[in-house]
Amino acid sequence: MEFDKLVDVYEELEKTASGNQMREILSDFFKKVPKEDIALVSYLTLGQIASEYESAVLGLAEKTVLKAISSAGGVSLKKVQEIMQKTGDVGLTAEKVLQKKPQTLIPLGKLTIQCLYDILHKIVTLSGTGSQDKKTQLLVSALQKASPQGAKYLTRIVLGTLRMGAGDMTVIDSLAIAFTGDKKNKEHLERAYNICPDVGVIAETLATHGLKGLEKIQVRVGRPIKMMLAQRVKEWEEVVKKIPGTLAAEGKYDGERVQAHKTTEGKVILFSRRLENITDQFPDLVEYMQKQINAKEFIIEAEILAIDKEGKHLPFQTLMQRRRKHDIEEYIKKIPVQAKVFEILYLNGKSFLNEPYKKRIDHIEKIVHKGKHCTTADRIITDNITKLKTFFGEMLEDKQEGIMIKSLEGTYQAGTRGWNWIKWKKDYSQDMIDTFDLVIIGAFYGRGKRHGTYGAFLCAVYNAKEDTFETVCKLGTGLTDDMLASLPIKLDAYKVKMKPGRVVAKKEMEADVWFTPQIVVEVLAAEITKSPFHTCASGLALRFPRFVRLRDDKKAEQATTSEEVQDMFEK
Ligand code: ATP
Repeated sequence: MEFDKLVDVYEELEKTASGNQMREILSDFFKKVPKEDIALVSYLTLGQIASEYESAVLGLAEKTVLKAISSAGGVSLKKVQEIMQKTGDVGLTAEKVLQKKPQTLIPLGKLTIQCLYDILHKIVTLSGTGSQDKKTQLLVSALQKASPQGAKYLTRIVLGTLRMGAGDMTVIDSLAIAFTGDKKNKEHLERAYNICPDVGVIAETLATHGLKGLEKIQVRVGRPIKMMLAQRVKEWEEVVKKIPGTLAAEGKYDGERVQAHKTTEGKVILFSRRLENITDQFPDLVEYMQKQINAKEFIIEAEILAIDKEGKHLPFQTLMQRRRKHDIEEYIKKIPVQAKVFEILYLNGKSFLNEPYKKRIDHIEKIVHKGKHCTTADRIITDNITKLKTFFGEMLEDKQEGIMIKSLEGTYQAGTRGWNWIKWKKDYSQDMIDTFDLVIIGAFYGRGKRHGTYGAFLCAVYNAKEDTFETVCKLGTGLTDDMLASLPIKLDAYKVKMKPGRVVAKKEMEADVWFTPQIVVEVLAAEITKSPFHTCASGLALRFPRFVRLRDDKKAEQATTSEEVQDMFEK
């Protein structure tokens, strides 16, 4: 298929301000895409060239892309830079330059999806000395074949700035409509997506083998599984109602969740809560797991905690310093870590997703050789609420967030916030409302002291059923001066010209600046109230919201959902 066919879709999507229209455009298009191109087309609609967990990094800077535009268009770099100054956008610059390109005597042929795939993946594999030049040449070869509009989107894909407003779930919905004729079948796609969060694999399987093919998708070591989440309750008594009889309680550690995969070749791969590959950040953890987890092949989950020399747990903020690309060796020594293993999803060729937790615990305890850097979660198994409360107190003394209460019979519900896990945090016991993880989707210019920057941010929750973002509050309190200075810079990369298609906002909440849903912040609020101005669960808002911290470990679709806010409001 020619890349220009996808370019037409990009042009349409760019003008669309509604999620439903976006799904219509995409599903109509997917029907026409040949099977061999459907996986790549699915990634490309998200502005990616592979699934996120594969971390296919092109490693091309804006300067290099401008150079490639200059070569492909036969225009001096100086002229390209001048156009860039005027347009402020690499994509528009590429389009303008290539519109003026003189026709070659021998036509170079049209850029196809397959050719684009080959070129971009070749770029990903190049590294070391001389690789920048080779990468530039490859990009030039793609640009020479592209149409001017094609070049506009191609350069944005390369720089990771293509923002069509679609998310994984938009693609999943559109695939369901395109290949099964009914959005209702989305459920089947979602089930497969939870154990294989890769839109390319889902698209290809559906296009080639239909819904039956999707049922056969299995857990695969090296490909992350969507993580299971916990429900919350308001009173202790509710815990016993939801999980009657004997239950397991573990510490709810305030660290970073990790899903570790070990292949039969002995390689350990670490995935974050966002399902990104974070192996390079924790080579020490990889080694501990290789040494202390006795199994040929596994998928386990653990909470990573920073520890001091004596092995005492340190706050989350300390661990955050390990989130870095440079000076890793230095920080391994400065901030040692400990993994508290609490789940096993796969062991030596067998999936454990459908096994009851009591069985999974047995295996965890069997394979983890406990040590300072790799151990299992503290756990009690009891039917006695007093013991549960004592355990909760112990965890608070250890400065943990609280406890996780787990059904011993419960299976691992990938990607689901089900009742097999219930969280109980110290905030609940102090009668404070829980925090919310909200997505910043807009901003309002500041006045007075905040003149020249943003005065407040428009925040949204995720509506998982509709795949939309619904506004829930304006946030302006609790931000430190540092955060007020750094947040706008962070948000700048996600600025868009109009309200993104998946954002649902009332006209009273018309922001001065809109952002693609991307940045997640944790917010504490005093109350949930009804509001005619916000769209969360058809009119709920947070009162007196206060910024707590950035949640870089969460994707926009992992924010608090409108359903959760509705539940909390009713409670
Ligand atoms: P929160 O903001 O409360 O951490 P969340 O949306 O990130 O919420 P929840 O489902 O509410 O996730 O809580 C589960 C999180 O708690 C996990 O993602 C994990 O990082 C952390 N956690 C800490 N200890 C445990 C444990 N023993 N078992 C499961 N998860 C744990």
